[in-house]
Amino acid sequence: MAKAWNYNAGPSMIPVSVMEKAQKEFTDYNGLGLGIVEMSHRSAEYDAVAKNAEKLLRELLNIPDNYKVLFEQGGGRGQFAAICLNLLPEGGKADYFVTGHWSRCAYKECAEKYGEAILHECTEVDDNGQYFINYDKMQVTEGSSYAYLCYNETVNGLELNRLPDTGDVPLVIDMSSNILTRSIDVSKFGVIMFGAQKNVGPSGLTVTIVREDLLGSARKYCPSVFDWSVLAKFDSMYNTPTTFSWYMAGLAFEWIKEQGGVAELERRNIEKSNLLYDYVDNQDFYSCPIRREDRSRVNCVFTLKDESLNQEFLARAKELNLIGLKGHKVLGGMRASIYNAMPLEGVEVLVSFLKSFAKEHS
Ligand SMILES: *Cc1c(COP(=O)(O)O)cnc(C)c1O
Repeated sequence: MAKAWNYNAGPSMIPVSVMEKAQKEFTDYNGLGLGIVEMSHRSAEYDAVAKNAEKLLRELLNIPDNYKVLFEQGGGRGQFAAICLNLLPEGGKADYFVTGHWSRCAYKECAEKYGEAILHECTEVDDNGQYFINYDKMQVTEGSSYAYLCYNETVNGLELNRLPDTGDVPLVIDMSSNILTRSIDVSKFGVIMFGAQKNVGPSGLTVTIVREDLLGSARKYCPSVFDWSVLAKFDSMYNTPTTFSWYMAGLAFEWIKEQGGVAELERRNIEKSNLLYDYVDNQDFYSCPIRREDRSRVNCVFTLKDESLNQEFLARAKELNLIGLKGHKVLGGMRASIYNAMPLEGVEVLVSFLKSFAKEHS
């Protein structure tokens, strides 16, 4: 079977070399005579695996010493709750800058269960019918415990191109779909969280990077496994961690380092997404419903002008082994997720498919 081009939003493409290394070590890690998945998380050998992953991530993102890096479970959605339980006191309030599907989910989790979440609708539609992010709407409320943002809206295909000034109010950001795809200054954030299944590795692992002064204020009934100060105290091994995903994250971090680090991946992600958007913007068969400067570099949303061709488009793509192009169910249309592991060639293949499909149907 030929290798598929995988444009799924997550779980998503992983570099073949990373999977092959994991395949080898699955049954025998480093000549120990036991596989990585059967190793005790308390063993010295696994501890080295875990510590190495953290060290690499710190290096890649240049994480300052006053930040803890926590390796958790529960996904992005688990963190939507953990953020409130750790940062929002009873009776407190927090600002939610909603730009799309995932920030709205985070807002709802907070508003419906934990306290006063203040909704700021920050995505609007302009006169040309294109979505754009209105940064002027990102104003913090006095007395707010934190301001919440999603850096890249995976479903909607919108990505922030700058950050709001929130003064002393800590910025809490969901980078599930664009972590390690662009350079960031970690010190600008109070908390950065991401699930691993988009740009890093298999699902199961969630990482939270949290500034130390924000630890220690969790609500009493916050589950211990979601209490960041408990996780920090136990080096993320308060309960059994997701050992395999954590290990594979380490392999992915190593791969990113070998590629030249985050700056090089950012350059590639700009190149890849420009290739796709330049094509989509310069013909009449497809279009992109988002203003150019607010488009995601990793989740490229586009539509066929004649939506009655959607099924045929997806079926034809599948025949050619191009999979995962269907847009999220809440939005419709098409979406190509072209994360770090997707090489330029994968985007070239996609663009030539778009061209030939358009030619056959115009
Ligand atoms: C996928 C995704 C989530 C949800 O992650 P789960 O691990 O399924 O809970 C949250 N936020 C963003 C930006 C995502 O892309």
